[in-house]
Amino acid sequence: MAIGAIASMVSVALAEIFGPDLGAPAGTLGHVTSVEIVIPRPDDWHVHLRDDEMLDAVVDHTARWFRHALVMPNLTPPVTSTAEAQAYRVRILDAASVGADTFVPQMTLYLTPTIDVDDLVAGWKDGVIGGVKFYPAGATTNSDAGGTNLLDFEATLATMVEFGIPLLVHAESTDPTLDIFDREAAFLEQQVGPLLAYMPELSVTVEHISTAAGIDLVNEFDQAYGSITPHHLSCDRSDILANGLRPELYCKPVINSAKNRRALVAAATSGNPKFFLGTDSAPHPLSQKEARVAKAGIFNAPYGLQVTAEVFYDCDALDQLAAFVSLNGAVRYGHEPSDDELRLVRNQSPVDDVVELITTAAGDQVRLFGVAEAGRWSVTAV
Ligand SMILES: [Zn+2]
Repeated sequence: MAIGAIASMVSVALAEIFGPDLGAPAGTLGHVTSVEIVIPRPDDWHVHLRDDEMLDAVVDHTARWFRHALVMPNLTPPVTSTAEAQAYRVRILDAASVGADTFVPQMTLYLTPTIDVDDLVAGWKDGVIGGVKFYPAGATTNSDAGGTNLLDFEATLATMVEFGIPLLVHAESTDPTLDIFDREAAFLEQQVGPLLAYMPELSVTVEHISTAAGIDLVNEFDQAYGSITPHHLSCDRSDILANGLRPELYCKPVINSAKNRRALVAAATSGNPKFFLGTDSAPHPLSQKEARVAKAGIFNAPYGLQVTAEVFYDCDALDQLAAFVSLNGAVRYGHEPSDDELRLVRNQSPVDDVVELITTAAGDQVRLFGVAEAGRWSVTAV
């Protein structure tokens, strides 16, 4: 089915039920008591599912609502071969107790100097591998095996061009002399831009874009795409710092300024097919997340869809939600959008008994992001 046909099937239904001030002009936002939207089952084009007890505790939160999940390879040790990716894929599917007919993990390999290109190509052709991930060494959780310079991997990248394998980039400079809020723009300017110019056939996703610089770079190069997270769309750095320090909002790349957030929201809600949802859901035990030195990562898989819907609702762009969460990323990664559908309903009165913490079998608690939005939105399979 053509994308346009599917997009036109997406319906936004506004049920206007008048309250006590009956008789006020129709269309006034205060009179809209429920909003309903039906979208193709979304995909999450960037997620950390971890392993062992944490995997067991978190995987259903992704499998319940998402179809494809592009699973990050930064385990310890990192996933660097098709056999390891396939074994991890089996562990993920074994751990999931929902989504048996709908959930499709897409695996990634970690770009290291030892990656075997023949193995990569075989995994790609078999449909096990959906992309190769570059981490600047030291930039984020379990990134020590990454590189310092993208062009150090030129031979592997040339093979990826030959077979059309996507490169996924964590774009963040590790230069300690740079301000943390400037590190994405610096990495894009110093490494990603030159790489895209040097290898114009290399297909690149700039992941979890956090600044206007990322949006601009993706728009500048035909072969560049960008994923955006629910937390970068809904929060800015004042949310982390202004009213008591909130470690649950600490992630990499760090949530940036309000001006940058507005650029992300504008891109996400524009319908531009280069931008799509990647939650970057990244659970950590509370003991490491709310510690003296807090780990970077936000666990948004349970409510990321609701947070994203609320952002689109706030700027009157719900008609573009399906493009961002269900269509654009599927097209970018070579898939048809899902025939399955979800119904999202915005409740007039927020539900207040939303789960805020989950506990793994190892006894670790994990805090959920987006509790307020989860109270606002109900999600059901159609
Ligand atoms: Zn990530």
